[in-house]
Amino acid sequence: MSPDRIDLHTHSTASDGTQSPADLVRTAAAAGLGTVALTDHDTVSGWASAAGAAEQCGIALVRGIELSTEHEGRSVHLLGYLPDPTHPGLVAELERTVHSRDSRLETMVTRLRAEAGLDITMAQVNAQVPPGATPGRPHIADALVAAGVVPHRDEAFTRWLRNDSPYYVHHYAPNVLDAVHLLRDAGAVPVVAHVFADRGDAPDPALVELLAENGLGGIEVEHRDHDERARTLARELARDLDLIVTGSSDYHGTGKQNQLGENTTTPEMLERIEASATSSTKVIRA
Ligand code: AMP
Ligand code: FE
Ligand code: FE
Ligand code: ZN
Repeated sequence: MSPDRIDLHTHSTASDGTQSPADLVRTAAAAGLGTVALTDHDTVSGWASAAGAAEQCGIALVRGIELSTEHEGRSVHLLGYLPDPTHPGLVAELERTVHSRDSRLETMVTRLRAEAGLDITMAQVNAQVPPGATPGRPHIADALVAAGVVPHRDEAFTRWLRNDSPYYVHHYAPNVLDAVHLLRDAGAVPVVAHVFADRGDAPDPALVELLAENGLGGIEVEHRDHDERARTLARELARDLDLIVTGSSDYHGTGKQNQLGENTTTPEMLERIEASATSSTKVIRA
């Protein structure tokens, strides 16, 4: 194990990853990481079992979350490190988002049945969502895989589930600036995730500048969805706006190709995250 290998963005079965939080932490330790962050979409329900596993296998655990937010009609993912999980405003916002995700999946399934002719039911989708997990499009994909319609998630996304698909339905998501303020209020360090992932347009620095004026702590630079141009711009912005720089895998188990530790964050940057967090949620070190 190398204490210097730090991966700050992963997903478990508490959202749309395929490994339980404990298995994920054990896999991270076996992969030689010294620190891993669990950042499930819109939930902290994986924290407790991840913490138990981290103590057992001697890897440091950063408890985090990835909030789905929106800015001018576009989805923006915001990582929050070390929030107070009992913060009433945060708890209420997570409940609202997860509730809306439920009804949105129902609408998508209805459309997929009626308009795409897919023989899929909400019961089949729900069977793919573990108790307490944040439901998402990957669970529709998993139901289609289980039914033998497609061989893997990726094909379900390409054919029916991608953002510009006619069957795509939005869920409620907080405004990104409100979400930055909320995370800070909950003592967390907000870090914008894969903000320059290719959407067919040029990477736009204006959003990052706006976020930085509103309390953003850092920017995810090293991520497989960032090409060299995106990384260069992100690094320049981090320097000019004094933002923390992270690199991470965005691991989803077998749900995506991303591998643990494929990008990493330096110990200096993790120190800055810890120094910037104000809640009583600390990095767990065995
Ligand atoms: P949702 O939050 O329900 O809108 O679903 C978005 C999630 O789908 C993202 O967090 C990704 O993990 C996952 N996703 C997006 N595109 C793909 C893909 N092509 N293959 C597998 N998973 C994907
Ligand atoms: Fe995901
Ligand atoms: Fe994300
Ligand atoms: Zn993610």
